Amino acid sequence: MPVARPLSRRQLLFGGQPGTPALRPPWALDERAFLAACTQCRACVERCPQQVLVLHRDGYPRFDPVAGECTFCGDCVDACQSGALQMRNGQPAWQQIAEVGEACLCRSGVVCGSCREICPESALHFERGRIAAPRVDADRCSGCGACVSVCPSAALSVRAQVQEAIA
Ligand code: SF4
Ligand code: SF4
Ligand code: SF4
Repeated sequence: MPVARPLSRRQLLFGGQPGTPALRPPWALDERAFLAACTQCRACVERCPQQVLVLHRDGYPRFDPVAGECTFCGDCVDACQSGALQMRNGQPAWQQIAEVGEACLCRSGVVCGSCREICPESALHFERGRIAAPRVDADRCSGCGACVSVCPSAALSVRAQVQEAIA
């Protein structure tokens, strides 16, 4: 079984990519605890029926919304024997939200509603009567990633909302 390597402070904060907190599988522990617990066994990656989990080059699993939607089936948690993924009472699957970038076709006056059509939470709102980029309703967005891969201009992404403070 692979042995986890000690990570730098930057890796702990950003998963190795400056400015980009890593998107972990759903129900992952807080970042520091996750990195300590995960044995890099890749069981979650192999179990995910949606194939939205990938093993990053640092050896740890990540959620990749470009690959598709997390349906919150919980199979990855069931597969994880290390405790790195755990459904705890009252805890949400994760703290992450969709973001609409500059490439949104609506910003160029093109009518497009692909993301709104696929969003299972009705979390993308367009202003009535205007061609404008959609607004993400933070109270509704589950961070599932369904909107990301359907965007014809790759304008959507999912961003982690919390980072663990490291002294
Ligand atoms: S909850 Fe299900 S769909 Fe989502 S990452 Fe885990 S196994 Fe994949
Ligand atoms: S199943 Fe658990 S221990 Fe194995 S790679 Fe996934 S998160 Fe890490
Ligand atoms: S991440 Fe999921 S819930 Fe959030 S806006 Fe996209 S499709 Fe809707």
